[in-house]
Amino acid sequence: MTSLHDRHINPLILKDLNGDNWHLADYVKRGGYSALRRILEEKIPPEQIIAELKTSGLRGRGGAGFPTGLKWSFMPRQFPGQKYLVCNTDEGEPGTFKDRDIIRYNPHSLIEGMAIGAYAMGITVGYNYIHGEIFQDYLRFEEALEEARAEGFLGDRIMGSEFSFQLHAHHGYGAYICGEETALLESLEGKKGQPRFKPPFPASFGLYGKPTTINNTETFAAVPFILNIGAENYLGLGKPNNGGTKIFSISGDVERPGNYEVPLGTPFAKLMELAGGMRGGKKIKAVIPGGSSAPVVRGEIMMQTDLDYDSIAKAGSMLGSGAVIVMDETRCMVKALERLSYFYYEESCGQCTPCREGTGWMYRMIHRIEHGQGRQTDLDMLNSIADNIQGRTICALGDAAAMPVRAFIKQFREEFEYHVEHKHCLVPVSAF
Ligand code: SF4
Repeated sequence: MTSLHDRHINPLILKDLNGDNWHLADYVKRGGYSALRRILEEKIPPEQIIAELKTSGLRGRGGAGFPTGLKWSFMPRQFPGQKYLVCNTDEGEPGTFKDRDIIRYNPHSLIEGMAIGAYAMGITVGYNYIHGEIFQDYLRFEEALEEARAEGFLGDRIMGSEFSFQLHAHHGYGAYICGEETALLESLEGKKGQPRFKPPFPASFGLYGKPTTINNTETFAAVPFILNIGAENYLGLGKPNNGGTKIFSISGDVERPGNYEVPLGTPFAKLMELAGGMRGGKKIKAVIPGGSSAPVVRGEIMMQTDLDYDSIAKAGSMLGSGAVIVMDETRCMVKALERLSYFYYEESCGQCTPCREGTGWMYRMIHRIEHGQGRQTDLDMLNSIADNIQGRTICALGDAAAMPVRAFIKQFREEFEYHVEHKHCLVPVSAF
């Protein structure tokens, strides 16, 4: 699977990458570090940068879609002590593999974006927390950091200015829960990676109890391009309230799985075309449009839906991190849900009872339906357990575990009922 192809539409972050041109010199040739240079040379006021981001409509690319400019404006400017900037490269959700490619193929876009963020929020120290299972990419990012320090794009008095920013990489341990921002902070502090109660939010009580801004890798990486092409132009690439381009990681039953950068609002059917269509010419059955926690959507509905936050919400799901999982007509929905439920059961940190007990309970019930031991009452019971998890836990993993269960049963109830009644699959092949 590769992201390095020419099948993007108006790409910014993934433009002109060939696998080898990730070095600082290549990035500078592509116009890299010019946004940071201009900011420092022209002494652009930080408030102006945050205003630009607000105008651009950039929303957090990690899943929540929170407006980035607004988040940056929460950082208290006059705070007397240390403040921190943190990048979340802890992508671990099934179907998601875009941030890995950013730090592998265009790491300096992230470094420049973080440096600009640090300048805009008056921060001098930052960390990039990288998922434990992508060690080679962590090493690549460390190399890129060394290059940036050597050329004066990081460190003390960047490019001869008054601005200093120290950026470090941190290699995590591969726990999915550490992608949750407060669990990430706990882990970064050297503790067990478990989510904190919120409030207080990281903007006031973050890393080491200090004000902290956390953004996703793709969010930071977009920042230099926004400032280079202009906020209005960036917004104009997408739709109102859905500005700019987005990297979609498409996997499953398509001919060419990979990362595709396209403007928000691009029809899903167009993304399918870029990805070569359905593998083997089979019929599309189901799509999970925003990472495994997003509710599944029937294929025919998705083929009529645009890829932006609002359109996917109207289709009953979420854009999330932009991880699109496509399933063809041979896929068993019970088996698919069994796999997903096992993931959340495995990854629950165990702090709260509804999530710790409920994820295992749901997984065991789906497992027994899949293996011909389901009961007529199971589907209603599953919905009831999901209801009692959702909204009743410390972090969003509980919701992430509950939402797929409710959606799969709602969209494909006939398949679950067939499994219970006939003790086997409705579809001929089950190999999800
Ligand atoms: Fe841990 Fe689950 Fe509670 Fe999140 S919802 S804090 S993962 S037990």
